[in-house]
Amino acid sequence: MPELIQVESYAMGEWVPPTNPRPLHDAATGEPVAEAGADGLDVLAMADHARQVGGPALRRLTFHDRARMLKALAAYLTERKDQLYRLSHLTGATKGDNAFDIDGGIGTLFVYASKGRREMPDSDLYLDGGLEALSRSGAFQGRHVCVPLRGVAVHINAFNFPVWGMLEKLAPTLLAGVPAIVKPATATSFLTHACFRMIVESGVLPEGAVQLVSGGLGPLLDHLGPQDAVAFTGSADTALHLRSNANLLRNAVRFTAEQDSLNASILGPDAAPGTPEFDLFLREAHREITTKAGQKCTAIRRILVPAAHMDAVAEALSERLAATKVGHPAEEGTRMGALASAAQKRDVEAKIDALRAETTPVLEGWNHHAPDLVGRGYYVPPTLLRCDHPDAARAVHETEAFGPVSTLLPYRDAGHAVELANRGGGSLVASVFTHDTDFAREAVLGAAAWHGRLYFADRDVGKEGTGHGAPMPHLIHGGPGRAGGGEEQGGIRGVLHYMQRTAVQGSPRLLAAISREWIKGAPETPSDPHPFQRPFTDLALGDTIHAGPREVTLEDIEHFAEFTGDTFYAHMDEAAAKANPFFPGRVAHGYLLLSFAAGLFVSPDPGPTLANTGLENLRFMAPVSPGDGISVRLTVKSKKRRTPDYGEVRWDVELTNQDGATVAAYDLLTMNSE
Ligand code: NAP
Repeated sequence: MPELIQVESYAMGEWVPPTNPRPLHDAATGEPVAEAGADGLDVLAMADHARQVGGPALRRLTFHDRARMLKALAAYLTERKDQLYRLSHLTGATKGDNAFDIDGGIGTLFVYASKGRREMPDSDLYLDGGLEALSRSGAFQGRHVCVPLRGVAVHINAFNFPVWGMLEKLAPTLLAGVPAIVKPATATSFLTHACFRMIVESGVLPEGAVQLVSGGLGPLLDHLGPQDAVAFTGSADTALHLRSNANLLRNAVRFTAEQDSLNASILGPDAAPGTPEFDLFLREAHREITTKAGQKCTAIRRILVPAAHMDAVAEALSERLAATKVGHPAEEGTRMGALASAAQKRDVEAKIDALRAETTPVLEGWNHHAPDLVGRGYYVPPTLLRCDHPDAARAVHETEAFGPVSTLLPYRDAGHAVELANRGGGSLVASVFTHDTDFAREAVLGAAAWHGRLYFADRDVGKEGTGHGAPMPHLIHGGPGRAGGGEEQGGIRGVLHYMQRTAVQGSPRLLAAISREWIKGAPETPSDPHPFQRPFTDLALGDTIHAGPREVTLEDIEHFAEFTGDTFYAHMDEAAAKANPFFPGRVAHGYLLLSFAAGLFVSPDPGPTLANTGLENLRFMAPVSPGDGISVRLTVKSKKRRTPDYGEVRWDVELTNQDGATVAAYDLLTMNSE
């Protein structure tokens, strides 16, 4: 018999073999493959190690450093993912399933690596939103900043996504600068362990940034403090048990739960057989029932169909399911593998029994599939039920059979479809297959409050849709009520779950120094030489030049109008302009003012300022009439290094008239070299 995989824990920089191990089994054969257990692990010392060693090491890095770390990790795992694929088959996962769990997990690291560098500063403080003026003169202002929590994040994961489950939580946590203790679900922990081992062996992360508990958490939750966080994925019952922990409640420890969910998919009233939406719907329903053998928190459990099309859908979907190749997950061509454990198989069979009272079978049993699978491993055949009285039913809206099981429900009209979708009591995702824009909007207004994500598919999206069941790191994953009330991912929003958002109030000078972003009212330093002639490194926040005034004449306005073709009446017709409530008469084009501003502030000679890459936050605040004199202030607002040789400079630009009133303001972006 091959040697059993020893699922170690990783504590305080050391690998710890399992103690009092329990066996874990190959999902396809039922043979033992590994053993895991973590009795006796000093979990409290691990938490201290994370707080005292991992946290400070991560906080010494900037967001960009940490983003680069994630990218390096993703690249390291990509090179080794074949090893993970092989182990993944032992959990019952097919080649196709690996795309979700392993590639999906690595992809999430890549997305956070990229977003961290594009959307976060190369510094240790994240600014959340803009400035709030709190006084008349602007001498007292406020803004929100986010800093990493000083504690440890405890990640408790479900068995069905051993790799994605770990990586989708680690990516935002590490980017935030917070160390983590990962606790995988025991049943598939040998795969999480293999991936975790690669992470440690990569040497990319500082000591203490990640630790692994392959078994029970012991007394850890009873000793977490106000700076710690728990992110849980699993069943509603376990979530309830854990979130009721008195110590977590006493210390207001952040607790995010992603739990089970009775997700619905609606075939739109317009999507009759023969439409592209009908075909897309069938393909998606089939995919959701069979991928990961239905062990996806986002899988479609309830299929809502216009009553008139119930028979057509039942026939077409059961035909597809009957033709699905169920078999050994490692075999080429297998579409659906086994459930992950004997316990899961027992649970799913019990849940199908519970659904029987309210449903009739459309497709069940092994008749259509390889009978040699019966009695071996943890296979469950694709099962399609129908419930013809969905209003009176309860179990179909409440019982999650976490396997290849789904129920068809008829609906009368659009309102009824939305009402039934909401009967899940809060879900992670609902999908709607429609080409009807009115129904799409009605579905959002009626259903969005009950679902974390709404997925619309129609002929325009076609095959490019990412799928009902695939959470994307760019968008939030989570849902209200039954789904746990949590929210993960969603781009940088997911990072902020591991940070404290703090309101900071003070003078512009102090706020500028704190946020490393120049603010109007903070000191200006006259720049000599011209700032366009100074290398990127040399430029300091607050470096400023003033230029002007330049008089704007009627000839300028007419010349610009003829030259550009912009002969809008407000610039050309005195009477018509006067009749406009915003203008005293003919006024200068806003774009003319921007061009004059550039003419005032640029330094024409070649130098380190290489290119204007954009304008942001442009506002025209007061009209400029012929005869007005405009002046400009150009100030270094912030800097972002892009490469060792280049960086982006954000300039605060303000145009004022002869009375000192602001007529336009914007951020100018330039690319500057050393
Ligand atoms: P589970 O039994 O609730 O277990 C989830 C995790 O909690 C496992 O790591 C488990 O560890 C741990 N756990 C259980 N009791 C604990 C305790 N007393 N103290 C600390 N940790 C404890 O769920 P599961 O069977 O693994 O996963 C299936 C469920 O997860 C399904 O209902 C599914 O819908 C849901 N799910 C939700 C999402 C989502 O994103 N919303 C994703 C995937 C799955 P052990 O394995 O060691 O017991």
